[in-house]
Formats: sequence, C-alpha cells, structure tokens
Amino acid sequence: MRLLISIKSNLLYISMILIIVLVSGCSKENVVANLDNEENGDSLDMLTPAYYQSTTEASFIEDVNQFISFAQLEQFHHPLEDETGRIPDFTVPPIGEFGAGKGLNGTSQHHPAVDLHVGNKEILVNIYASYDGFVTTVKNADKYRHYVSISKNVEDGNGQLIGKLVTLYAHIDLDLDEADSLNINEQHVNKGDIISKHLYSGTLGGPHLHFEIRYYRAGDNGTETFYGFANPNLPELTEPSAGNWSYGVWNPTVGYGFGNPISHGLDFQ
Ligand SMILES: [Zn+2]
Repeated sequence: MRLLISIKSNLLYISMILIIVLVSGCSKENVVANLDNEENGDSLDMLTPAYYQSTTEASFIEDVNQFISFAQLEQFHHPLEDETGRIPDFTVPPIGEFGAGKGLNGTSQHHPAVDLHVGNKEILVNIYASYDGFVTTVKNADKYRHYVSISKNVEDGNGQLIGKLVTLYAHIDLDLDEADSLNINEQHVNKGDIISKHLYSGTLGGPHLHFEIRYYRAGDNGTETFYGFANPNLPELTEPSAGNWSYGVWNPTVGYGFGNPISHGLDFQ
C-alpha cells in the first residue's frame, strides 16, 4: 500500500521513466547487449536465461519487465548504514562481487549477492533492513548458516499483486542476536531497522555479510537454499538459481531472479 501511494505521488517520475525507456528502445536485444557489458562493470540484473531466449513467450518477458520496473522504483537502505547515516569501512573482494564466477564443483556458478567485509574482520557489526517486509529467520541453512530474509509484496498501479521482493542477509549469528533480545522472526520491519548485531565468526573467507536482492513473481515459490548448489538428499530443495548460466535462472515455475543491488541505488564501491 505504501508503495502504491508513493507510486501515485510519483506519476510524473514514472512517466519520465517510461518515456526514457521508450526512447532508448529497451528491447530484448538491447538488454542482451547491456548484459554483455555487465562483465565490464556496468550494473544489470541477473535474470533467467529464458528471459533472453528468442523462443520465450512474450507474456513471460512482459511479466518480468513489469515486475522489475516496479521493484526498482523504491530506494533501498544500505544494509550497513546506521540511524545517523554512517556506514563503517567495508570491502568487497572480487569473489564477493555480484555475478562473480565461483566455478566450484566443475560447474559455472555465479555469485548472486554482494559480500561486505567490515573493517578488519569485524564480528560485532550492526545490519539494517535494506527494504521493508515480513521477516523469516533461519538457522543452520546449508552454506548460508544463519540468515534473515525480508519479504515484501509488490503491486502494480491497480493494486494487483505482481510479485515479491526479498532481501536476504546471510552469515549472521542469530543465536547471539537472540541472546541480545533481538527477536525479529515473523515481525514486520521497515527499511533502516536493525535486524542483526553479529556476523558469523566461522564463515569461509572471514566474517562478512552476504546480501541478496531477489525477485519472485506472483506464483513463484523458489526455495531459499544457497545459490546454485544441488542438494542430493533433498532434490526438491535444489534451486537452479545461479546454476549453469552466467547470469542466473529465473525458472518460471519454481524459481526466482536475483537483482543487482547496484540497480537499486546501493553503492558498494
Ligand atoms: Zn556471498
């Protein structure tokens, strides 16, 4: 509803964007061309191969385009920015950049997140909600360890549900957070609210925040298992996500797409 109100009050802005999109001819071919530039540092969203295939149904592409254009209207909050606007020193190693190749297990995996290493391997780090929504906390998930996900429905201009925006904050320590009385599971939070005070000390490569933005279309119900790695014991939890494809998979029946945080105005340089 809040998104709807802000959309209505920004009709002029939306019109301008539409004009820019129309003038720039945002065809699929152009998107593919831009995607190639992503390797050179330009920001673009990681989407499904289906989105880029010439045989893909126009309705699917239309669906995805509509969702992304609405999702990108809202400004996000930097997950390390405190209530005074201060952001601690952090670094993003090359392997922690959005879209960075992992190449593990002989497959071509790509990192659908940004990894933020704070100070000199700091563990006492406050993490803030980047976007509003309903909180789910999960402990001991494969590779993520502990994480918080925040889900928010996205509606079009007519109030029709067109998808869900999920921000996900992994490699945190929920046990210590709960010991600090920070219990946010199944609560609603607003962007800028504190959601964790501890990074997980045992994370590979040192403590860091693994931050994702996900797009689920209405009807999609992708799991929240880690990017791209199959779980042989629980095949139904295998999420193709960033699997054998350079820019991730948005499976039209079970999956979701990843958004590049930089496309949402977040600066991780
Ligand atoms: Zn990561």
